[in-house]
Amino acid sequence: MKLLEEKIVNDGVIKSGNVLKVDSFLNHQIDVPFVAELGKELKRLFADRNITKILTIEASGIGIACVAAMYFGVPVVFAKKSSGSNMDKDVYFTQIYSYTHSKTNDVVVSKRFLSKNDHVLIIDDFLANGCALEGLIDIVRQSGGTVEGVGVAVEKGFQGGGDKLRKAGYNLHSLAIIDKMDAKTNTVVFRHEE
Ligand code: 5GP
Repeated sequence: MKLLEEKIVNDGVIKSGNVLKVDSFLNHQIDVPFVAELGKELKRLFADRNITKILTIEASGIGIACVAAMYFGVPVVFAKKSSGSNMDKDVYFTQIYSYTHSKTNDVVVSKRFLSKNDHVLIIDDFLANGCALEGLIDIVRQSGGTVEGVGVAVEKGFQGGGDKLRKAGYNLHSLAIIDKMDAKTNTVVFRHEE
């Protein structure tokens, strides 16, 4: 998606450790009209699927998931990173290794909000090694629901998580795929699907 690629080039900052910071429009400050365009594009890409729920993970997936949900007309469920004292005990549980924080999080979703009748679109802001999305797929599997698709804003193609999911047969669309990025020169090379 050209709009997102331009935004990454103009406003993204490449940090050491292959981390791209997009906190001026997606991850800290949110440019809502811009993110709405991403949501609209996700609706176009998954228009043929009968989605009943969008699933994401806190915190940075929530913004784009909520905006996309406006176009799909369905609720957003976000996986919570730890089972707090007021969390429903009847939960689907998985563990997700966080690439950016180098730690494993316990992740839960209440059984009240995901069931075998759900047709789920999983959305996240970034796809790197694929741990976050694999964890969310595991939660849908536990619920007995169907993963209709996976939508991502920025895929770092060179980290391989996206290709692994495509190979496994998931209907994955990433709005921008980065094949190479260089922190020293702050340059990015995009891959274009088809
Ligand atoms: P994965 O689980 O695919 O290795 O990493 C994806 C998760 O880590 C996303 O939920 C995202 O929050 C975070 N992440 C991975 N790489 C980056 C990055 O380059 N920039 C930002 N902002 N987040 C990232």
